[in-house]
Amino acid sequence: MIKLDYFAVLIAIAAIVALSLWPLKSHGGGEQEEEHGDGAGQEEHGDAGGHAVHWTYAGAEGPDHWGGLSPDFAACSSGRMQSPIDIASAATGLAVGAPGHDIAYQDVPLSILHNGHTVQMNYAPGSSMSIEGQQYDLLQFHFHAPSEHTVDGKAFPMEVHFVHKDSHGGLAVIGVMIEEGAANAALADAWAHLPGHEAAETTIADVSINAGAILPPDGRYHHYKGSLTTPPCSEGVRWFVLSQPISMSAAQIEKFEAAAAPNARPVQPLNSRLMIGPAG
Ligand SMILES: [Zn+2]
Repeated sequence: MIKLDYFAVLIAIAAIVALSLWPLKSHGGGEQEEEHGDGAGQEEHGDAGGHAVHWTYAGAEGPDHWGGLSPDFAACSSGRMQSPIDIASAATGLAVGAPGHDIAYQDVPLSILHNGHTVQMNYAPGSSMSIEGQQYDLLQFHFHAPSEHTVDGKAFPMEVHFVHKDSHGGLAVIGVMIEEGAANAALADAWAHLPGHEAAETTIADVSINAGAILPPDGRYHHYKGSLTTPPCSEGVRWFVLSQPISMSAAQIEKFEAAAAPNARPVQPLNSRLMIGPAG
């Protein structure tokens, strides 16, 4: 009898341990890294040993050296489909869904963090976009200053990246250029809470944000296949860089620059890639 009880307790403990580990296992290796990718957050997750590989935007750990900092970062130097790129505004082709890619973003509580590389707003589940029948869930958006993509060789003061993932782990990113002009009302609340230095995620329950309000009215874009613009520079990312910029005031841009700039990877060779732009 005593023996049986002992056995039952052991089984119960084993079951509890298995259940508590299950959600971690279900994420699989590497997925976490890409989840906040193109962007951001890789350092927090680190490699399998829990040791984060340090990288920067200048100097000995800058973009020219990312590929050598870790075997996991090899694509940063050996990849042939890297991001960002210089976009030729005259490059036009098929009107791939322009301007009607289906965007269904919800209002969510503002959840903001500074991961040491950028300021990022994490998005609660339930918001998505559809492209050619494929649904991508919005995970987060974050900012770069100056812009990472350039247009006809010219950089903008800033760029925002909306990072999405489909049910198979495929990533799609919408990039929007930011020019200096009128203050951006859709980002006013977020900017009031902008962390000035590295800071863990904070959720401000009484402030909501809708990423859809940040997008410009004209949805036409240039599309190409690229990569995360931060280590590990993983390829297979579908990029949609909108043709119409949005604006932020000089004060808004300066506030971000003081917090995180410069945080732009230089443009990468197009190689043999096809760029598809808005029709005519
Ligand atoms: Zn980015």
